[in-house]
Amino acid sequence: MPELPEVQTTVNDLNKKIVGRKITGAWFDWGKTIKSPLREFEKNIKGKKILKVERLAKNILIYLSGDFILLVHQKMTGHLLVGKWKIEGKKVIPIEPKHIISDPQNRFVHLILFLDNGQMLALSDLRKFAKVILGTKNYMENLPELKELGPDALEIRFEDFKNIVGQKHGKIKQILMDQTAISGIGNIYSDEMLWVAKIHPFKPANKLSEKELKNLYSAMKKVLEKALKLRGTSVSDYRDIEGREGKYADVRYVYQREDEKCQRCGTMIKRVKMGGRSAHYCPKCQKL
Ligand SMILES: [Zn+2]
Repeated sequence: MPELPEVQTTVNDLNKKIVGRKITGAWFDWGKTIKSPLREFEKNIKGKKILKVERLAKNILIYLSGDFILLVHQKMTGHLLVGKWKIEGKKVIPIEPKHIISDPQNRFVHLILFLDNGQMLALSDLRKFAKVILGTKNYMENLPELKELGPDALEIRFEDFKNIVGQKHGKIKQILMDQTAISGIGNIYSDEMLWVAKIHPFKPANKLSEKELKNLYSAMKKVLEKALKLRGTSVSDYRDIEGREGKYADVRYVYQREDEKCQRCGTMIKRVKMGGRSAHYCPKCQKL
């Protein structure tokens, strides 16, 4: 699932590519993605000008004229693309740019917004869990899933981080991924920052010392900023808006490196089950 670095990369690129454009129409073949009534979606999206694009946690907010906001949550496998496609019957055929054509991960286009310069904004989503909502600014700002978000992982100050995390009873990895505690972090970067901070993923959050909280806070910023610089992680489906892979996977420390050597001490990285997810860690550097 795209996390803060991937979503921010998408938002930065969208601001360069689609701001100022007008949406001339919409096409989709999987209506369930769109959470607002379909007829209203088509009517309300048409003719809107794109004003700016922002990230809120892992959500992409596209601000439109007429005080509307289009929200895209990419969920498991969704990613936004900008390019050109040809629709022939049930087939969506990519025409440009080249990475969208060559990389099979970009083939699952189920929603297209047509722009007034001939370009298109598309949602490719293999597993079809992505969510799109169109509503007035007032309606969107009151959506429970947006209102309940905790402070952003890149913006939170240490004092707030300490107060939020230090009082939770759950396992630290789970608290880091809890969007109502801190927002933006998921499975990949929680593994990475815990390894950097030398903290076991199962350690209860409220048992972390002041020093461990400080280390974790600085590891969080360091890992997220590094990943943002490298344009995210593409171990599974994530691609940027031109269909290209991010480069963080090449330098990752532990995520999906089970049975590889720890870069710090040479011990084999372990994978353990945690709820429905997995945690990857070094049993020697990250003691419980
Ligand atoms: Zn180690």
